[in-house]
Amino acid sequence: MQDRLWQTILGEVEVSVSRAQFVTWFKNTRLLRHDDDTLVVGVQNIFVKNQLEKKYNKLILDLLAKNGVTPKTVNYRIHSSVASQKKDTDSHKSLSTGAEPSVSAGRQRSTADTPPTATTAHSGLSHSYRQGLNEKYTFENFIVGSGNELAYAACQAIAQSPGTKYNPLFLYGGVGIGKTHLIQAVGNAIVANNPAAHIVYISTEQFVQEFLDAIRFKRNTDFAGYYRSADVLIVDDIQFIAGKEKTQDEFFHTFNALHQANKQIIISSDKPPHDIPTLEDRLRSRFAWGMSIDMQNPDFETRCAIIQTKAELHGMTLEPAVVEYLANLVQSNIRELEGALNQLLAFCEMRSLQPDISIATSLLGGARTRPKHISARQIIERTAKHFQIEAEDLTGPKRDKDIVVPRQVAMYLLRSELHLSFPKIARELGRKDHTTAIHSVEKIEREIGYDPDLKTAVSELKEQLYA
Ligand code: ADP
Ligand code: MG
Repeated sequence: MQDRLWQTILGEVEVSVSRAQFVTWFKNTRLLRHDDDTLVVGVQNIFVKNQLEKKYNKLILDLLAKNGVTPKTVNYRIHSSVASQKKDTDSHKSLSTGAEPSVSAGRQRSTADTPPTATTAHSGLSHSYRQGLNEKYTFENFIVGSGNELAYAACQAIAQSPGTKYNPLFLYGGVGIGKTHLIQAVGNAIVANNPAAHIVYISTEQFVQEFLDAIRFKRNTDFAGYYRSADVLIVDDIQFIAGKEKTQDEFFHTFNALHQANKQIIISSDKPPHDIPTLEDRLRSRFAWGMSIDMQNPDFETRCAIIQTKAELHGMTLEPAVVEYLANLVQSNIRELEGALNQLLAFCEMRSLQPDISIATSLLGGARTRPKHISARQIIERTAKHFQIEAEDLTGPKRDKDIVVPRQVAMYLLRSELHLSFPKIARELGRKDHTTAIHSVEKIEREIGYDPDLKTAVSELKEQLYA
């Protein structure tokens, strides 16, 4: 019996991979055909096919051999019987909407609310629109683990052929688990293959702000044209569109124009579409056209791998005890995990110490855990003090260089430590225009890379803030 063979193999796979891996990649597979040379396994979608081919083929061949079956090749074939069977048996958490991840998903679209024709005119753009990609987010430096492997596979599939598979891709999950990293990685990978591709990454906050500006300055058509001419539109943190009716309307038309032209749309959110309050139903239903993936918190092994990799990027190798200590200290938010690691590394770097468990515990443990709430005001005051100027100079109108740079550093810290929105950062520093905040944060991020004095200033400031 073919089926019995495959059930045996699955049983053995189940005990040799993690539960999440089994559920995600194996559970719904079945044997379609088996002869002396070839074994054909039916799978529910292209990710599973890719993943089995790339990562698990050897395991499968080994297990087959163990059971006395030695085909020359194993083919994985996307098969409708597997895709539809999925619906009943689906108990896993990764795919959590009704949207079937079959290759044809996302292809059906209604013509009922066709948007106005997309314009590709760029000319006359007065706004300093930016592509918005940060090259530090790549697939190469993304650690794949049980919580994110499906999202990772989906993003890779999209990077290979944007607009053809999962459109839109809707990624959701908690704070700091790598949503922005992954969706930016897609953009960076596409640009690397095709520098001419017009990738637009935008945070929803910025989209809202730019849309309001466009209306105010009567530049609506520039705005619409810009977004509708994207080959790939990546919109981060869509939950911020809740309650903004006009922006939702604009986004709806942008979405339709792009989708109709087979342009890839990628959306992230901290919650699934049905949990975003005051999201218009028509947008909700658009988001369900393609594929939704729930990103889970990283498990312990993934957290350890992330810490090790990030430490190595800083040229440090950490003892296993330190790695495990950090992985236990911060369990869900990778941004915080990085924060704890950076704090430890900065502390040791400045004192030329090798990080060990006693430094880690005394620095990060117990009462000296980083306070949850540093205020924006504290950051501004600390920064002013560090550069020996007055806090009022930072928030005031002066534009001298010895004030502008500290002001940019303060903006950077407001972003990196408090994750404030750009409009809020601008307001905290008495600026009207949020694009100043965007440019400042980006400038400091860039310059830290090659200006050792600036790098030291920023790490000293961070250390003082948490002291
Ligand atoms: P989110 O957008 O989900 O809030 P981010 O993508 O901003 O989270 O991730 C927070 C930080 O953690 C970023 O610096 C990111 O590079 C890092 N990070 C998250 N997940 C991973 C991962 N799997 N591998 C490496 N770094 C990661
Ligand atoms: Mg994010």
